[in-house]
Amino acid sequence: MEKININELTFEELEHFIEELGEKKFHARQIFKWIHREKVTSFDEMTDISKALREKLKEKTYILELKVIECQKSKKDGTMKFLIELPDNNAIESVLMRYHHGNTICVSSEVGCKMGCKFCASTKEGFVRPLLASEIEGQLHTVERYTKEKISNIVYMGIGEPLDNYDNVVKSIRIINYPLGLNIGARHISLSTCGIVPNIYRLAQENIQCTLSISLHATTDEKRKETMPIANKYSIKEILDACKEYIKITGRRISFEYALIYNQNDSKEDALALAKLLKGMIAHVNLIPVNEIKNGVYKKAPEKRIEDFMNTLNSCGVVTTVRRELGSDIDAACGQLRKKYIDKTDEFSDKKYKEKDNNK
Ligand code: SF4
Repeated sequence: MEKININELTFEELEHFIEELGEKKFHARQIFKWIHREKVTSFDEMTDISKALREKLKEKTYILELKVIECQKSKKDGTMKFLIELPDNNAIESVLMRYHHGNTICVSSEVGCKMGCKFCASTKEGFVRPLLASEIEGQLHTVERYTKEKISNIVYMGIGEPLDNYDNVVKSIRIINYPLGLNIGARHISLSTCGIVPNIYRLAQENIQCTLSISLHATTDEKRKETMPIANKYSIKEILDACKEYIKITGRRISFEYALIYNQNDSKEDALALAKLLKGMIAHVNLIPVNEIKNGVYKKAPEKRIEDFMNTLNSCGVVTTVRRELGSDIDAACGQLRKKYIDKTDEFSDKKYKEKDNNK
């Protein structure tokens, strides 16, 4: 019989599983704490559990452990970027950023991404598979173990579209949020989407209270379609209607991400159009100087243009900030490190293949 990944069980599922093993339900509390709060990687570390139960757990389950393949640390601001290996040898990225309000991790939600945003390196290698809830939470465990530092905030803004992997992402939030586990409050969890409209409505009903960020990046559907293929499916109006519903149900402010691309979406007219779109909404705009990726066609807007854009929005009453660029001396942009790794691995297997061929 195939062993169960014990990290994948919610508290209620674990209770049920323990009962099925013929054990008392209260053991689920101890085990959940060991797995999710203490982040143990072996059942033998569960010192308050009997040896007999530990043996039963070993026989039926396994503890998921992800490995760090590479870690880059910025000399400028201490940002750390991790390339993490999954059990099936796929690689994902997580970034640890240091803010005054605490350590924030940016997690991946999928291996690759199908959304095809033109300014993003995560999508260049296509989509491989969604991540399990335990592989999402596992990124926190791995980084906390590696750095021996506590993480207090999470942003679902790494590789992948979180609302494309809806069930696993929501499950991961519930596990991360659970009091016996990492116990990170939903208000410290932010989920960023390119705008999968039906799932914004679903998320509003989940009673989770996490912050929702929308990657908007343009003020008209035509312009948005030039960089984000998802715009062919959902219009800006449909996205904003879903956001209004999210605000109505959760009472939470929505954050709009706007990557400024030189001469593409960074004019004063764009800023005024954005202010008009968001008029009357509880919203915050986060301006992101677009990351220039290797072989990418888009250029970062100059600082003066970014500042003018922000001032125009603020003067229209839209609270706007510019995201601080972190890790500019490392491959901190989403997907860059994984892409390099895949290129290197491909080169390596190509070379090996050629060598094999020559030896024939
Ligand atoms: S920006 Fe996000 S949604 Fe778009 S391709 Fe990159 S990871 Fe996917």
